[in-house]
Amino acid sequence: MNHKRSGEIFEEAKKYIPGGVNSPVRAFRSVGLDPIFIERAEGSRIYDVDGNSYIDYICSWGPLILGHSNKDVLEGIEEAIARGTSYGVPSPVEVEVAKMITEALISVDMVRMVNSGTEATMSAIRLARAYTGRSKIIKFEGCYHGHSDSLLVKAGSGAITFGVPTSPGVPEDTTRHTIICTYNDLESVKRVFEKEGKDIACIIVEPVAGNMGVVAPKEGFLEGLRSICDEYGSVLIFDEVITGFRLSYGGAQEVYNIKPDITCLGKIIGGGLPVGAYGGKREIMELVSPVGPVYQAGTLSGNPLAMTIGYRNLKILKDNREIYIELENKAKRLEEGINNIIKELNIDAHVSRVKGMFCLFLGKGPFENYNDVMKCDTEKYSAFFREMLERGILIPPSQFEAWFLSAEHSDEDIEETLKACREALKVALKV
Ligand code: PMP
Repeated sequence: MNHKRSGEIFEEAKKYIPGGVNSPVRAFRSVGLDPIFIERAEGSRIYDVDGNSYIDYICSWGPLILGHSNKDVLEGIEEAIARGTSYGVPSPVEVEVAKMITEALISVDMVRMVNSGTEATMSAIRLARAYTGRSKIIKFEGCYHGHSDSLLVKAGSGAITFGVPTSPGVPEDTTRHTIICTYNDLESVKRVFEKEGKDIACIIVEPVAGNMGVVAPKEGFLEGLRSICDEYGSVLIFDEVITGFRLSYGGAQEVYNIKPDITCLGKIIGGGLPVGAYGGKREIMELVSPVGPVYQAGTLSGNPLAMTIGYRNLKILKDNREIYIELENKAKRLEEGINNIIKELNIDAHVSRVKGMFCLFLGKGPFENYNDVMKCDTEKYSAFFREMLERGILIPPSQFEAWFLSAEHSDEDIEETLKACREALKVALKV
């Protein structure tokens, strides 16, 4: 496969953009390659500037549950653009999206739009601190909640991939308020609360972890967090930036039937435009400015184009819930197919799946927390990634990310992926 034009653009990009990319995981560094530059994408396929075509399992890291350039989503965008790109005063579609989100999520009475998942979690933490009058927060090792200072503490995503659990530039004064617990280990959380429960503002958690690969919550884990928060008067924040509108229309909170106090959203609610949101109980949300004293604002928040695309995306999901069953069935077919290959080749590998969310760990399970997943063989994963790319399949360029399926991935796509997977694993693992 030829990547000549991508290479040329990358050389140019590096002159003007740090590392040539606007988000680190795009650099493909962890898999020993230069990035590919994309020209266009449609359905389940993405096309690079050299004319190569790939079945895409990155799908913009989650927003594109309906596939690339979905015509029903895009219909109306031109008309929306013609009406202006941003007003700085409210527009009706913002209300439509907010209403749709509050109707979809069992725990959300009110919602505030922002521009990214990072902003959503950062603002949620501020709100939880204001609501409780406490400073400390708990997060879990391997969960990623964006790159704001207080959450960039042993974070996952690009941070794990590059082995940089914390970042220079984040003051210790900030991170000393962040306590790290072990995912799926309720005892580690209880111990912290027994010591400092009265100072803990909130627990923030990915209800299904998607930033250390896919790690499912063990039975009782999320329920346990809910009851600890109730006992100590702390706020439970579900970071549903990935799981919201992906695991089901009502998100992970619907699947596990647990009501967090605040929910963070992003990705799918913007359908590929820059959007995030945080929402929750009325009593908490009414602390947000201008009703309450907690300041949070945004020049482009609730942007009319982003809201138009977001609204259409959510409306299609709302009216076609069977998409979630189909998504899960596709993920199951991939899981079963890959499991057969694993058996046939007799290799240490494991498909970790929750509904339509999954990843392939190259290592020996169980995979219940950060320490478990860190035992995976990242070099073998890198070789696997390269072999898949060569066969026209774009998977996440990191062992520690979820694969994203869309409604547009066809049976043929899945067959082709499984065929490539078998060959790629054979070459990458030398079996
Ligand atoms: N929370 C979770 C669970 C995420 O996966 C991400 C990004 N992958 C974020 C927050 C941050 O979102 P953004 O990249 O839009 O800032």
